[in-house]
Amino acid sequence: MAVECERARALIDAYVDRELAVDVSAEMQQHIESCAACRRRYEGRRALSAICRNPGLYKAARRGLRRRIVEAIARVAARLAAAGAPAVAAMAAACIAARCWIGTTYCP
Ligand SMILES: [Zn+2]
Repeated sequence: MAVECERARALIDAYVDRELAVDVSAEMQQHIESCAACRRRYEGRRALSAICRNPGLYKAARRGLRRRIVEAIARVAARLAAAGAPAVAAMAAACIAARCWIGTTYCP
């Protein structure tokens, strides 16, 4: 396996999820277009990603569970904020994301 393929293998999930910087993403696209093995791997991951995004696979959390999860995240974020932990901003973002995910995206 060429070094390029090793790197592509390491980055393939981030590429499928569009998490790479523009220059790295372009590098991945170029490699995938020129390498049959990595193209097959990419197509497999892309198909799996599409299956996982199927909303029919998800079941809405019950209202009580949803509330308890959001409250638990808020308690942890408050504890971190009180301690002056540097992760407070990340926790706040995670709390907001969790609230959005639980309350909006998959739980109409
Ligand atoms: Zn390759």
